Amino acid sequence: MTPNVVLPRTGIGIDVHAFAPENDPQPLWLGGLFWEGEQGLSGHSDGDCVAHAAADALFSACGIGDLGTHFGTDRPEFAGASGVKLLGEAARIVRAAGFEIGNVAVQFVANRPKFGPRREESQRVLTAAADAPVSVTATTSDGLGFTGRGEGISAVATALVYPVSGREAASAEPGPAKGAPHG
Ligand SMILES: [Zn+2]
Repeated sequence: MTPNVVLPRTGIGIDVHAFAPENDPQPLWLGGLFWEGEQGLSGHSDGDCVAHAAADALFSACGIGDLGTHFGTDRPEFAGASGVKLLGEAARIVRAAGFEIGNVAVQFVANRPKFGPRREESQRVLTAAADAPVSVTATTSDGLGFTGRGEGISAVATALVYPVSGREAASAEPGPAKGAPHG
């Protein structure tokens, strides 16, 4: 006999981007915000590893693949898209797959930028994109590893989703994974 409860599902996502080299400076986009005067991250997208990890965790929670599955070469309209746009589309896909989003929590590891003063602003932007609560925290790695050496930023995210009965799941089935890096 099936118990009459709706079990939530958790997911996890990790994303890493290197800082752009000094001879090819890029603007920094992180947590859905532009950081004026800060060294940017490299990648074909805006390199917003906070938003990317959040989107990946949503897909993970639903068991419907990952960023490469949904934003690979078969969806060229998302090539170079902002992290905020990807997160919004991820949330749409998740809902189309028959889930509602409980919340997403992201933590990034970096020496810079100084996040505290803009944390609430970042959370507002990402929460609006996902139309669900997104919290963002930051930490350092005590000088250790690539984040400690200032070579890049890593982010890890968890997401909680729950199935919504009556929603059609078929419309969100991803195509065959192309295995493309999302940049
Ligand atoms: Zn990324």
